[in-house]
Amino acid sequence: MLFKTIIVFLGAMVLIALVGRALFPSALPKVLRKREGPPRCGKCGRYLIGQKTCDCGGKAK
Ligand SMILES: [Zn+2]
Repeated sequence: MLFKTIIVFLGAMVLIALVGRALFPSALPKVLRKREGPPRCGKCGRYLIGQKTCDCGGKAK
């Protein structure tokens, strides 16, 4: 019984994490956003390696 409760609890946690990731991708720590690759400019889409602002005046996403 207790084991079942733990499994349900863990399942709920995973579900919340998946929903949260789908709704607020920017709110998650960088480790969980690895797949997006290097930061890119939110305006022109250029890759911003080692900098947070772009030449066009845009900011990294
Ligand atoms: Zn730019």
